[in-house]
Amino acid sequence: MDDLVIGIDLGTTNSCVSLYTKGRTKILENEIGGRITPSFIYFTPDGEIVIGEHGKNMSVHKPENGIYEMKRLVGRQFDDPQLQESLKYFPFKVTASSSNFPLVSVKQKSVILKKSPQELYTVLLKALKKYTEEKLKQTVNKAVITVPAYFNVAQRETTLEAAKDAGFTVLKLLNEPTAAALAYYSENDIEETHRSLVYDLGGGTFDVAVLEKRFEKIEVICVAGDTQLGGHDIDTCLLNYVYRVLRSQYGYDPEADPDDKRILRNKCENAKKDLSTVENTVIGINGMVSKHPKIKISLTKGEFEAMADHLFKKTIVILDKCLQSSKISKGSIQEIILCGGSTRIPKIQKLVSDYFDGKELNKFVHPDECVAEGAALQAAMFSMSEKQKIDELRMVDVLPLSIGTSDHSLCHDMSFLIKRGTKLPTSVTRDFVNTETDETTFTFDIYEGERLDIRKNRYLGEVLLSDIESAPPYQKKVTLTLLIDQNGILTIEASETFRNNSKTVKVNYTRGDRSDREIQNSLLDAAENQKNDEKFIRFVRYKRYLIQYCVGVTCNLDEKMLTDRYKELYNFCKVTKKMAETLEMNDEVRTKEMIAECERRCESIVTMYDFSYMPRDFGFLKIL
Ligand code: AMP
Repeated sequence: MDDLVIGIDLGTTNSCVSLYTKGRTKILENEIGGRITPSFIYFTPDGEIVIGEHGKNMSVHKPENGIYEMKRLVGRQFDDPQLQESLKYFPFKVTASSSNFPLVSVKQKSVILKKSPQELYTVLLKALKKYTEEKLKQTVNKAVITVPAYFNVAQRETTLEAAKDAGFTVLKLLNEPTAAALAYYSENDIEETHRSLVYDLGGGTFDVAVLEKRFEKIEVICVAGDTQLGGHDIDTCLLNYVYRVLRSQYGYDPEADPDDKRILRNKCENAKKDLSTVENTVIGINGMVSKHPKIKISLTKGEFEAMADHLFKKTIVILDKCLQSSKISKGSIQEIILCGGSTRIPKIQKLVSDYFDGKELNKFVHPDECVAEGAALQAAMFSMSEKQKIDELRMVDVLPLSIGTSDHSLCHDMSFLIKRGTKLPTSVTRDFVNTETDETTFTFDIYEGERLDIRKNRYLGEVLLSDIESAPPYQKKVTLTLLIDQNGILTIEASETFRNNSKTVKVNYTRGDRSDREIQNSLLDAAENQKNDEKFIRFVRYKRYLIQYCVGVTCNLDEKMLTDRYKELYNFCKVTKKMAETLEMNDEVRTKEMIAECERRCESIVTMYDFSYMPRDFGFLKIL
């Protein structure tokens, strides 16, 4: 039997499975014939697990057992503010594990079950696997799974682990906008260079990406988004309005009852969907408020649009910043691809089109299915099956912000290791040397961002290598390797050959934690502070020179064999170095004075004894 590879769009609200075979993609329906499956798991009180549409319907009777939007919990710590925000509206209970990860609790057969987001993902993926295998009448173990471009490493790894537990080998985690673009390009025979923008607004996340196709290669030029912005938030606007009406006109507070909250949320979502096609709708609430058994709340499209206007506009701001930061002109975008269920809202379509000066939007790709289709196309490219033969379209992802480290001189200047815009996957290896004799540990703090003062960038993590043999300055080499794999996971390895010493750390780096704000702010911040940063680097040259001068003198003068005169110089340089380490940019004048003082006192012995390890000029010995 052929080893087929499927594509899975594991969405916040809905999931969708697709297969490319015999020259075309097809959506694989679930057991009830649905082309998309709600990412919903219902734990029935008597011990069953019901997935998808059925589960969603059944949970109306016991909302606290209906789990949805697991994607908002995946790979996050319990006290993550964004997770805490989601907890405000979930009808199910979430508690913290001993290691501060969220655990969803549900009661089944009077037993409390605690499930991690990863376990829930596994349950969902197992169900999708079962539907697929039933449909194809064969085992399917390999898949390409899509994730938001902004998913961070923990979120990506959780997805991989969950898929593994569900019996899948994941050949690639594909970014959702890339998948959508792939679906578009596979349908449209574009030979020459072509630039498209994917605007993807789903149930829980917003992604925007600019992609360029050059012959058979698709390159992601820039991405931005917000992991906490989607149809659900639009529903919340409507829901808050309904709460207000119920409180003010009917004296009823529905927020106290989880059943009512869930019922009202469903009604609001349906009303929102209605208003994508009609001008007016009515939210009917029967039997919830005893004194008012039949309540009708009418709503016009205009009222709805006004309520959610700030959210719609927020997406345009993100889109605008994405283009501006990458210096891409609106006019250069040849195709605008809408995907995600929420792009059915006419006002959103209008705002996007208006932003591009009335440009027509692409309506060929199916908003609910294009991401899964893209995943299926990518899956076929990995497949060895004859049935899945496909022309190769190569996709290239790029790093949104540079990654760098600083040496351990406390100068805090960023040494860029991988520059923004580098195509992924990528790896880089750099050698670092010790700057002092008694260094037996090396700590590499890894940062992301464009500022030259590393402290102004975003700290990602550290790798610490200890037990290094002591050696004179600049004699001991430690190799740092950074690898970003095709799933966007950053691995850092520091190694030293002498003692075969090595340490590997996976750093929580990718785009997930950061909303558009952080990426775009980071770029704007760097542009606005260019002058300041130049000043900073000039200061760092002096500071590093001073530190290295002091280190040079002290390691040439052996402490144990010092005459009084040399002892004084030795101590002077020790103290000066300590002071130098605390100098900041405003201390440039003082730094120069300290250099002059050091040179005045030490220069004659430095020259006379021809000291080694001395810095030669202010630019010298930047250890990279
Ligand atoms: P996705 O995550 O792409 O499956 O999108 C799901 C989101 O799309 C949910 O918030 C749905 O309420 C929303 N959605 C689906 N159909 C419509 C529609 N006709 N009008 C407005 N929103 C919709």
